[in-house]
This record gives sequence, C-alpha cells and structure tokens, in this order.
Amino acid sequence: MFARLICGAAASALMLAAAGMASAQDFSALRLSDEIRTISADDFQGRYPGTDGEKKTLEWLQARYEAVGLEPGGPDGQWLQVVDLKRYTPVADAARASWTDAGGQVHVLTPGTDITLRAVTNDGQASITGAGLVFAGFGIHAPERGWDDYGDLDVTGKIVIVMGGEPDGDLFNGQYTTNYQSGAYKADEAKRRGAVGVITLSKAAAAEPAWTRSAQGAGRTRTLTPGAADTEFSGAINADTARALGLDVAALAGRIGTGDFRAFELPGLTMSVQVSETTETLRTHNLLAKITGTTRPNETIIYSAHWDHVGVNERAAGEDKIFNGAWDNASGTVGVVEMARQLKAAAAPERTFVFAHMAAEEMGLLGAYAYVADPVYPLATTVADINIDMLPLSGPTRDVPIFGKGQNSLEDDLQALAEKEGRYVSDDGQPEQGFYYRSDHFPFARAGVPALMPWHGVDWVEGGREAGLAAWQAKFGADYHRPSDEWSADWDLTSAVENLTLLYRLGLDLANGERWPTWKPTSEFGQVRAASDAARQ
Ligand SMILES: [Zn+2]
Repeated sequence: MFARLICGAAASALMLAAAGMASAQDFSALRLSDEIRTISADDFQGRYPGTDGEKKTLEWLQARYEAVGLEPGGPDGQWLQVVDLKRYTPVADAARASWTDAGGQVHVLTPGTDITLRAVTNDGQASITGAGLVFAGFGIHAPERGWDDYGDLDVTGKIVIVMGGEPDGDLFNGQYTTNYQSGAYKADEAKRRGAVGVITLSKAAAAEPAWTRSAQGAGRTRTLTPGAADTEFSGAINADTARALGLDVAALAGRIGTGDFRAFELPGLTMSVQVSETTETLRTHNLLAKITGTTRPNETIIYSAHWDHVGVNERAAGEDKIFNGAWDNASGTVGVVEMARQLKAAAAPERTFVFAHMAAEEMGLLGAYAYVADPVYPLATTVADINIDMLPLSGPTRDVPIFGKGQNSLEDDLQALAEKEGRYVSDDGQPEQGFYYRSDHFPFARAGVPALMPWHGVDWVEGGREAGLAAWQAKFGADYHRPSDEWSADWDLTSAVENLTLLYRLGLDLANGERWPTWKPTSEFGQVRAASDAARQ
C-alpha cells in the first residue's frame, strides 16, 4: 500500500504547509470503496432516472456536499437542475411518403419498407409537401481538413440525403473516428444550412437484414437529445429506393470518398412526407455543487460524472434483476464527491470549481446534453470539463489512457503531471469501441469546451501490459452493464487513487492559472470554440 493512502489529516495539513496546495490531498481507497458500496447497494435499485433510486442518490449526494461545506451549484442557488426528457413514439400507420419525378408522376413509398421516418423534434409532427432533394455525400463540412461536401449549394427548404460514416484514411483520424461520422453531426450541419429533413442512405438493399433490422428499430420509442437539431423529420432509405431516385450507391461510394465531390440536386425530383408521434416527458435531474473562485469566479472548471445507471430489468437472465452499477458509475460519482472534498480542503481557488453529477448518461449522455443546451455557467468561460466514468480497478499502472487522444491541450497538461510520477498518457487502445462518444465529456467537447476523460491503465507496474490487458478485458466482459457489476471488498483502488490525484493536480493548476486549454489544429471542435474567443480575452 502506498503511503499517501494512509496519511491522516494531521500529516496532510503538514504537507499543505510544507509543499503547497498541490500536495494537500489524501484520497482514501477505503472511503472510495465505502461510498461506492453505499450507492450501489440494492436499495438504490440501479439508479434509474425518474425512480426512487434517483431520489435516494441525489439526497445522498446533497448530504455529502452539505457535510463538506460546498455551495449548491445549480440554477438559482439550487442543488438540482431539472432535466425534462421528451420521448417520442410513432403513431401507428400515420406516416406517409412519396416522391414525384421530373415528369410529374407520383411514386408512393411504404414507410417501414422503402423508407423510415421520424419526427423526433419539438412537436412530433412533420408535414412537408414537394420539397426538393439534394444528395450531399457524407454531408460533412470540415474546414480544418479542407473537406466540404456542400460547396456553394443552397439547401434551404430542401431534404438532404447523406451517406452514413465518414471518409477512410488519415484525414479523418485513421483507426479512430471523428465526430463527423455521427448522424447527430450530419443533422446539425443540414439544419444549419436550412434543410427541412435529413435522410440517411443505407448501402443495404430492401431485403438485407441490415435494412430490415434498422427499419424495425425505427418504430421504437426514442428520447430526444436535448439541444439536437430540430429538422422537421429524419429518416433513412435503402439502396433500392435510392436507385429509383437515380442514386446508385455503389457508383457513389467511389465518388464521395475523394474530396472532390460536391453536393448536387436530384433534377426535377421532389418529396412529400407526413409523420406523427406522441410525446411524453421523463423528468430527471442533474445535481451541481461548487466552490466559488476568489478572483475569477466566472471562469469555471467542471468535474463531471453520471450518477445514473440502467435500473432494474425483470427480464434479465438469472436471479439478480438489479443492475447495481457499482463500477458504472457509482465509482466515478464517488470519485467526483471525493475530488470536491479534497479541493475544499485546499486553499481557495482563483477560478470556480463545479462538481456536476449528470443524469441519464446511460440513455445517451442526455443529462450532459441538457446541461450544455442550458448551461448554468457560460460555456465560453468554462475552462475545462474533467469527466470521470468508471474508476480504474487495479494496482498501479504506468499508463494513463484517455479517450480522444490528440484532441486538446489538456492531455499535454496531464502528461506533464503523469511524467513526474513516472507515468505516461496514451490513447484508449480500442478504436473499434468508439469510446470518445460514450461518456459525458463528449457533449462538452461538441459544444467546444476542452474536455478530458481518463480511462483504465493496462500497463501494470507489476506484470506489464500482458497481465493488465487480460485482467481488464476479463472484468469488462464479465460485468459491464450486467447485474454482476457490484461492489466487492476485493477491488484494488490503488490505480483509482493515482488517477484521481493527477486529476486533482490538473484541476488546481487550471484553477490557479490564467491559461485556457485549447483544441489542437486537427480537432473538429476548435472551430466551435473559436466562435467565443472574444469572451476569453
Ligand atoms: Zn454505462
């Protein structure tokens, strides 16, 4: 066991006096373990949004923050930020679609077979008559990569058809994907340009399972991502429908990957669409606490972690129906609580610290999206988001992997701190997982706020990469999003303590300096941040 795990309050105070505040922490593996056990117990019922499990979790968090003397950090001096999630369900047999050819002949499309349609927007209703059609390739405008699928084409009032994914190759991050591959980005870009709808062109033919599966999925209840682009409708067509419209998927696939492609109108063609969905609201909450900065209180550093998990599922296989989520994310939740305790014990920071416990991450990062859509602290003067999702459970590691390596300068700050401990920052090593898009740092990144998400080291000090990777894969395979993700007295939280210590030092450096972390020139988020440069002069 490392000495810093057992150093008590008196020793800690001495260290503060002797070594300055950067050493004044004493993260305790025992206390982390104890608190994780509490909020992942069966009576928290898997912490599903809108349930009694939510209520218990938020009450526990508030009590912790009151005990260490933090201020409420939500809107209007409250602890909670209300998050109203709108859920949409298609009205059976209400969707209609057709297209009209250059000769004026109408071709009816069968929803669920030829085309899928959703109106997951503010009112759940879409009614479009005779809109022009545009094919926009991948639908990507990436100025930092010199890529522009739209060119000068005006798509105002039109329906934009795009291909899923993004171009292959190093221009788009090689093995790792960029945000440009996401449907949400493509919808945003089309909406910004005035389009009324976005249709994704599937490479699959009507009879292929890839299409029939996705067509079935399109009938399910869907929750709106707060702040998402509200084009009238979104949908998909298969390769057969595309061919009828004059779009040959195989021929286009070669053209759109070269960088020379420009969007074009489908000459003389129009489309009409009607969609109707019922809506309901699920109310949940983010909980926020803060330590107000002494000299630059309007500049904030956010530590975030999602408090929710996936609840109880009576249809789960086996006896145990409760998804306790001890690792995911009672551990990160407690990590943020303990971060707050340690930072409160340090000298008052110049900038403000915010501790944000996000709701509904497991439903698609929805609490964090709700926060950035309606931020309590202006995003332009939010210095950084440091997100903690699933603390590492191992002995000491040499590596400190992060999601989204190469994105912003926070990784260089972390590297400098890690080096002092003989450690190094690396990528997450699993490009196929798309981890960068799967936790609450991402909505911040997408909104231009430099964000950092550390992950589990696998380069063990004892046993190296071979032992570390095998152990990690076994643990992830056995427990991730399963009822067996439960607290255990056997957990080794040494690596968790080491990472929290690094993130504590990083936060203090940011809070007592004047630097603004920046996006790297190759990042797709630099342009978003640049729009608010004036606020950081
Ligand atoms: Zn999860």
